[in-house]
Amino acid sequence: MTRVFNFSAGPATLPEPVLRQAADEMLDWHGSGMSVMEMSHRGKEYIGIQAEAESLLRELMAIPSNYKVVFLQGGAIAQNAFVPMNLLRGKASADYVNTGEWSKKSIKEAGKYARIRVAASSEASKFTEVPPFETWELDPDAAYVHICANETIGGVQYHWTPDTGDVPLVADMSSEILSKPVDVSRYGLIYAGAQKNIGPAGLTIVIVRDDLIGHALPTTPSVFDLKQQADNDSMLNTPPTYAIYIAGLVFKWLKAQGGLPAIERHNVAKAALLYDYLDSTSFYVAPIAKEDRSLMNVPFKLRDESLDEAFLKGAQQRSMLQLKGHRSVGGMRASIYNAMPIEGVKALVAYMKEFEKSHG
Ligand code: PMP
Repeated sequence: MTRVFNFSAGPATLPEPVLRQAADEMLDWHGSGMSVMEMSHRGKEYIGIQAEAESLLRELMAIPSNYKVVFLQGGAIAQNAFVPMNLLRGKASADYVNTGEWSKKSIKEAGKYARIRVAASSEASKFTEVPPFETWELDPDAAYVHICANETIGGVQYHWTPDTGDVPLVADMSSEILSKPVDVSRYGLIYAGAQKNIGPAGLTIVIVRDDLIGHALPTTPSVFDLKQQADNDSMLNTPPTYAIYIAGLVFKWLKAQGGLPAIERHNVAKAALLYDYLDSTSFYVAPIAKEDRSLMNVPFKLRDESLDEAFLKGAQQRSMLQLKGHRSVGGMRASIYNAMPIEGVKALVAYMKEFEKSHG
């Protein structure tokens, strides 16, 4: 068996021990004689699996007791509609901060449900930074303030938490959840698609403060009504059972790594290897402002773009895959989520140096 270093932005590499355990348990989960995939979501085995996944997530993120965890489908894209449908609470508008491609998508979709104010934007600097908080024009009457905590395509990440006062802060944490400790109490709602740091695609996790539940627009589909899902332990309809089971295994793995403070140290060290090298050469260019660089998605360009193809081909020959940047920005992108081992980043940096030597 050969495993590659998979730098995909998502679905992304998962911890190998998790995949091995899932393989071992595939046909017969804990003597049940069934695969988790085959279990009724109403059966005691599966109910236990989901409850354990939730409790591990609560422990890892230190989620306060006045917050609910809801497991949904629809991906983070569905959340772009879900959030305004559930959180407007009779208010006329919501504030959004525009830091790139994923923010733009959120703003566009939310516009179907409410008046959206762009309270701050880094469009003028081509999304190479998080707009400084002093430039934000927040509306105290907004229903909520929405941010994208880590722009997966652009590689811009908040390394601070905005203080939005009494207006609930909502964060798309799809590509940074569980990569570092966060103070959940600073947020009204956090959402994340699973396919980067949590598990397989098909699962979306929502963490929401109690008082924000129960205000859905009357036209909200029942499966996207926070109250109905929260009241039914995310089982208003069939949840993505297998994805939740794998998420639970990933949470266990994270705990065994020492939890979020330890994984953050690991992530900082991995990203530093790449950024330090990028800063030491002019052969490659790292476009993002230093203080706002993502620890999860590292975009870079070859100064001579005519070499892009040769670079990618050489990487592939060395079993390093999915390094091509998103089509909207071009260049390269190395996604180095929790499960990417430091050996993968070392191998990438060694290859980048070698490529520079032979083509520089
Ligand atoms: N937000 C962010 C920050 C993302 O990275 C992605 C997916 N790459 C999405 C939203 C959309 O997620 P999904 O495809 O699961 O709906």
